[in-house]
Amino acid sequence: MALSGIQIYKLLPQTNCKDCGFPTCLAFAMKLAAKQVELAACPHVGDDAKAQLSEASEPPVRLVSLKSNGYEVKAGNEVVLFRHEKTFYNKPGLFIRLRDTESPDEIKTRVAAADGYKVIYVGRELALDGFAVEAASRTPAAFSAAINAVRQISHRPLILISRDPAIMAAGLRLVDGERPLMVGADAANWQAMGDLAKQHGAALAVTADTLDGLADLTVKLKDLGVQDLVLDPTAQRLGASLALNTQIRRLALRKNFRPLGYPVIAFPGDADEPAQESILAAHAIAKYAGFIVLDHFAPETAYPLLVLRENIFTDPQKPIQVQPGVYEINNPNADSPVLVTTNFSITYFSVANEVESSGLPAWLVVTDAEGMSVLTAWAAGKFDAERIAKAIKTFNVADKVSVKRVVLPGHVAVLSGELENELPDWEIRVGPREAVDLPAFIKQSL
Ligand code: SF4
Repeated sequence: MALSGIQIYKLLPQTNCKDCGFPTCLAFAMKLAAKQVELAACPHVGDDAKAQLSEASEPPVRLVSLKSNGYEVKAGNEVVLFRHEKTFYNKPGLFIRLRDTESPDEIKTRVAAADGYKVIYVGRELALDGFAVEAASRTPAAFSAAINAVRQISHRPLILISRDPAIMAAGLRLVDGERPLMVGADAANWQAMGDLAKQHGAALAVTADTLDGLADLTVKLKDLGVQDLVLDPTAQRLGASLALNTQIRRLALRKNFRPLGYPVIAFPGDADEPAQESILAAHAIAKYAGFIVLDHFAPETAYPLLVLRENIFTDPQKPIQVQPGVYEINNPNADSPVLVTTNFSITYFSVANEVESSGLPAWLVVTDAEGMSVLTAWAAGKFDAERIAKAIKTFNVADKVSVKRVVLPGHVAVLSGELENELPDWEIRVGPREAVDLPAFIKQSL
């Protein structure tokens, strides 16, 4: 059971020495109970208390990371059921599955397409995370050839899939020095797979049809000394998968049930109908997979999944922002217009993309509005005449143009009078309310 803040406080030294960075032991205890700090921050806890507190200080969902050649995919460490309660921390890794029954050339072609796929979304580069290789042929030679084919093209982290320890061992030998995920240990092979995981420093996914079966395996493997475990509940239908993933997360978070306190792996490609793969993958992103293995790669299905993942795994308390400053669009010169907006990413990209795609040059002044959109920032007092004037002066916009004329977003036309007072030698113009109307406004009015 999780300990309350008061129960934790009773186990602390109660000297209020502040070495942990908190003013009192009680304050530290409350943070520890909320799993917002680590026990190691207090250097004065005795061994007995440490043993009792270890449960309270461990994250309810263990952090498991896969590594290779500078890449890392992390899953787990989540502390809430719903993103709005706090945030989700580690984006689920998206992997593409190859089977060793495909020829090495086919594998290389598929890996190259997925490995090179990148999209820019609100200023961030989004990409897939790695590849899963399945020993469908059940022969070590074919499995090894498939892994080698993947590694000739990509150095992203790997998931290796085989229930046969001998075949898995052959694959692991090829990725020594990396940290792959092995799938999967079951009731029959768990000991041999656990030994391999320890020997190669790999994470290990346990496979069972029931929660009891999964919990039984994680307990046994933890006793064997394997810490980095992943749960493979094997559900292939949307309803069953949703129910199992939710139960696992609830038991880990609300009941502090350690045997299920691990990330989940999902295989949307195992669905009865291939068309359901994207739907199952979207569900797995939202609730609550840590690793997702797709059978198919296509830009038109990868893009929405990457964007969905990005949106769900951003901190709702921290808006996505761009750096305040003056942005040059289409190589502006001294005659180009000066536009102004806020530093909320979606606002910035709406304006910048519309102007850029029109081919018209412009200077875009981005003010620090603490990541809020134009109207929200205005209502919150973060986008007012004083701030706009300060940005124009700080970024020396006057030195860049021959005509001192700035275009306000139409939604804040009310600021034009105040801005004239702040910038007496500038002409203040009110632009359109919507970014999409900016190109026509620039052509007709400036
Ligand atoms: S470092 Fe430990 S003993 Fe000191 S105030 Fe923090 S919790 Fe209390």
